[in-house]
Amino acid sequence: MFLYVANWKMNMPFYKAGDFCKENYYGFENLSKLPDKKIVLCPSYTEIMQILILFKDLELEVGAQNCSARISGPYTGQVSAVSLGEMGCVYCIVGHSEVRKYLSEGNCEIIQKVLRLIEVKVTPILCVGENEDDGIEWGKKVLFSQLEPVFEKIKSLGSKYICVAYEPIWSIGTGITPEVDYIEKIFGYIFEIAKEICPNVNITLLYGGSVNEHNVKKMKCIANLGGFLIGGASLDFKKFEKIVQL
Ligand code: PEP
Repeated sequence: MFLYVANWKMNMPFYKAGDFCKENYYGFENLSKLPDKKIVLCPSYTEIMQILILFKDLELEVGAQNCSARISGPYTGQVSAVSLGEMGCVYCIVGHSEVRKYLSEGNCEIIQKVLRLIEVKVTPILCVGENEDDGIEWGKKVLFSQLEPVFEKIKSLGSKYICVAYEPIWSIGTGITPEVDYIEKIFGYIFEIAKEICPNVNITLLYGGSVNEHNVKKMKCIANLGGFLIGGASLDFKKFEKIVQL
């Protein structure tokens, strides 16, 4: 299955999200019927349940944009992986660069989030990516520092499944995308680290960063690509539809 993960970020408050889903219900229904393609909508926590209810008859999945690193307890304001799983979330984004930046989240927290999600069978979408377009060696160095601690932690869990979304920060929301062969080299490197550290973990690689209806054809040529994480273009149904259909 090729994944199209819509990261709505904090752009769709309750009524807007509901209206968007209702207005585009048949469009989403058509997309959800496409063979070998899977739509995953990631709204804010507060919109998850209504979207699950609105789309209860469609073959599309709902995911969250974050979760707590803790199982349960006195953690005011946090949402547990258990809650997300019980609600019906199948995926959850963790380690997004905006969370790393604005909530000062570091690797220790992210590892725990991945573990919490795996415990409740919600698939983590672990976001990684370098800050600056400063060459492949720099990119690899940053990716190693983000991936190695997570892979080390999950290697003993047996044959688990996670998604890794490569999102170069300089590409998020900028309209600039790396060349296809650059992404392929990065993907090759991620597989290399995974093979060495956690060979029995099943990994789907996603690309995220300024994917739109104009560049999707080119981006789909990336070897070993398992899907896209889509921010801005997922807020406009026509653009999102084109991305999925192309
Ligand atoms: C994102 O932030 O996950 C993302 C991919 O954003 P955009 O598509 O807007 O670059």
